Amino acid sequence: MDKTTRHLLLIGAGHAHVHFLRQWAEKPCPGWRVTLISPYAHHTHSAMLPGYVAGHYTAAACQVGLAPLVKEAKVDWIQGQCVGLQTVKNQVEYTLATRPDGVPSKLHFDLLSIEAGSSIDRRRLEGQMPGATSYALSLRPIEVFVDLWPKVIELARQKPPSMVVIGSGVVAAEMVFAAEQSMRLYGVNGARFSLVTGPGEWLPGVREDVRQRLMAQLRARHISLIHATCTAIGDEALELGSQAALTCDVPILAMDSQAPLWLQNSGLALSSNGHALTTPQQRSTDGENVFVVGEASARQDQPDNREAANSLEARETLAHNIWATLAGHPLKKHAPSGSGSRAISCGTGYAIAGWGRWTIEGGLAWWWKNRQDQAIMQSYRNPMRQPKPKAPKPSRLAG
Ligand SMILES: Cc1cc2nc3c(=O)[nH]c(=O)nc-3n(C[C@H](O)[C@H](O)[C@H](O)COP(=O)(O)OP(=O)(O)OC[C@H]3O[C@@H](n4cnc5c(N)ncnc54)[C@H](O)[C@@H]3O)c2cc1C
Repeated sequence: MDKTTRHLLLIGAGHAHVHFLRQWAEKPCPGWRVTLISPYAHHTHSAMLPGYVAGHYTAAACQVGLAPLVKEAKVDWIQGQCVGLQTVKNQVEYTLATRPDGVPSKLHFDLLSIEAGSSIDRRRLEGQMPGATSYALSLRPIEVFVDLWPKVIELARQKPPSMVVIGSGVVAAEMVFAAEQSMRLYGVNGARFSLVTGPGEWLPGVREDVRQRLMAQLRARHISLIHATCTAIGDEALELGSQAALTCDVPILAMDSQAPLWLQNSGLALSSNGHALTTPQQRSTDGENVFVVGEASARQDQPDNREAANSLEARETLAHNIWATLAGHPLKKHAPSGSGSRAISCGTGYAIAGWGRWTIEGGLAWWWKNRQDQAIMQSYRNPMRQPKPKAPKPSRLAG
């Protein structure tokens, strides 16, 4: 390889990097090579996970394989995970997925883009909720959850379980509806379902009328709504803050997860919650050769707005800005839609969505959500156009 070739490193394969790889396949930038580090063989569209649990989608419908994508884009893929970053040295450390506890290898970059999502800090979780790491199913990593769910169904068919979803947000609500529907689909009679929301606000950011409608749907499906803190998890029961025990065979953790721990001490500026602070152009506030997008990031101008960090919305901006950096073109700002108009599914065929002053509930809202999700996945599967290399103007980073 030419010694002057520069190295663009992508960490994680969420929506923004999948989108970027497709663009790169069509329009690579001469003088640059690209490496992707990501641990799983697929990109999984998380918004389809409740539909998968409910039995509406297959795993394949919610996932896009990375192997064909990197092949078309002529990108090197290290199936592994980043475990360290030193921006001062322009270097990351990673371990291979096959040897996660092995000695980390080092990789140098000229330009870095991070889309590593969020993760579970197992030590912190175990401190807050002893037993959680031994007995509970976590939604993260999502690929592991997808693999484990069929085993839950298998066990449920032998003995109807008590399932408890723990979490205060929309994802937790969607998951308990999906689990309930799944048991009906597979003919498991006598299963019981609860949603344990913690002591704080239930469904933060969700309009009161939508919340009321969700509550009515929970009642209609005989799902218990428990506003209490889960303080420990055992093999047959949860311990609640009120000292009460709640029978539980399948605890599902759907709480907020954390920014990747390896961002700490990386040299990047972080928010108080450990997310990498970015400019509206998705660039780290600390380095012009680092982009960060999605759940690992927080906008410096609106650090508490998690919607502003949505990688699906920011994917066009990120792809444009990476290429623009290589080509020495001006960067674009990402303008979060701020619509908050996410449709919340209550199992297949039924959703509740608030738009402005309006609320739509039932089959139409679900149809709209399903159509959007399917369209996103289809856009990743459409055949790519032939590459049209275009020589970029030299930029500072291009050397
Ligand atoms: C069940 C569920 C339903 C949801 N539904 C919706 C919805 O309807 N609408 C919505 O807006 N949001 C929804 N969300 C939230 C949504 O998942 C996130 O906002 C979004 O997926 C975050 O995207 P991301 O690109 O930051 O991370 P991800 O999509 O999680 O991608 C992160 C990537 O990084 C990889 N990775 C992780 N760690 C490392 C590492 N150390 N090194 C290298 N690679 C790594 C992962 O394997 C993955 O490829 C949902 C979340 C869940 C769990």
